[in-house]
Amino acid sequence: MNAKKGVRALSLLLVIALAGAMFVPAVSAENNESKMEQHLLIDGMTNINVLNAQKTEDLIASGIQSPEELTIPQIITKYDMITFDIPDIKNELENFESLYITIGNQKYSMKLTKADFSKVKDNIESYYGTLNGIENSEIFLTISDTVIVGSISIDSETFYVKPVEPRKRVSSEKPVLHIIYSSNSVNQEKPIKIDDGTLETPIIKDTKELISSNDGLSQESRSVDSTKQWTTVNILITTDNQFYLDESDWKATAEDIINTANSQSSFGRDDVQVSLCVVAYDDSKRMDLSNDPDITSEPLGTFYEHFDNNYLNARYADIALYLGGYNADGGSQGLAWGFGNGPYWGQWAWSQMVYDDPLYTGTVHGRRCISIHELGHIFNADHENSAGTNRAYGWWDPLPKHTVMWSDFIEAYNVYEYSSIDYHGEATRNNALAIRNAKSTVATYRNS
Ligand SMILES: [Zn+2]
Repeated sequence: MNAKKGVRALSLLLVIALAGAMFVPAVSAENNESKMEQHLLIDGMTNINVLNAQKTEDLIASGIQSPEELTIPQIITKYDMITFDIPDIKNELENFESLYITIGNQKYSMKLTKADFSKVKDNIESYYGTLNGIENSEIFLTISDTVIVGSISIDSETFYVKPVEPRKRVSSEKPVLHIIYSSNSVNQEKPIKIDDGTLETPIIKDTKELISSNDGLSQESRSVDSTKQWTTVNILITTDNQFYLDESDWKATAEDIINTANSQSSFGRDDVQVSLCVVAYDDSKRMDLSNDPDITSEPLGTFYEHFDNNYLNARYADIALYLGGYNADGGSQGLAWGFGNGPYWGQWAWSQMVYDDPLYTGTVHGRRCISIHELGHIFNADHENSAGTNRAYGWWDPLPKHTVMWSDFIEAYNVYEYSSIDYHGEATRNNALAIRNAKSTVATYRNS
């Protein structure tokens, strides 16, 4: 077969595969009287490998090679394994800022806004939005040249999508395997501790470097106009070699986290108004981090040593987040020294991206929540049991719900928002106020 014919044959195969994928929702629709499984598909651009996979054997039976290499969080009890026609999806998003999707037998269209928070391009784009005509819906979508990371929520159910092939399996030859799973298929019965509050600094350097208060009330008395306007805080994001290798595209994962953090459900809320601007997805020191013998015993301190204040200043970064690819020693999923420790300690946060124990396995939601929690500490947000008014808040809806600074994480309870007297909170549980009062200080760290 000559090369040209080969291309034609391949194109025909792709058309057949696409046509097959497009017919799936239609077939499902005929069975809508039975208890139909709810599958989410991007219309015409999703190729199905396995539906309702529950164990490795299901993947083997469907011809998935070396399924043990795939990064499927163990806590997910059921998922669909699919690939996407990424170039077509990118085109559609670029031209229309919309996609058509099918969930079960219901078709929806997206109303998206392209995010503009990254100074680095790396061919990654992010979108935030809703489903047209669906009041309680929310979409986070990040797309690179090879992967999609994101989620679509309708009422109390969220569908998550993430790539699952390690970097060595990613090539331009074949599309990357992804999973789509429902929040109803994540089985976490007990909470897991995120951290014990902000970490004590190793050395108190100089009192003039310390910001005076951890207490939201005394912050409140400062009454600064800057609390009522948008504040841009520059952030550098990095990782180690382990996460770099384990992920299909670690930068897309990082961007999904910041896309979520910047949304109206978190830092982008109108009574918080912090815009995180990514100055770099910096993996230049991934080997330094991985080769450091303290990387699992002291992930935050090790991060600090390799990315010191001078390093951040040179890149105009106010703060820095290390997405950790190792299961760190001890019971924490993230750490930060926090706002009370001033610029020289308050700039760094670490969040663990990978399995710790059966209660934390690095799901899309878990990674976002832990990261936004640690970033919150940088802005003087604190736990439900802190001493000040910067406390987390819990309520029922009808399940328990916890604002992002809650000290424990449980997949079904924790949300991305900070406590606020304006929505979920009260005068003594008002992390939004603490962040408003801290943000103009954090935004000057790059000059410290
Ligand atoms: Zn904490």
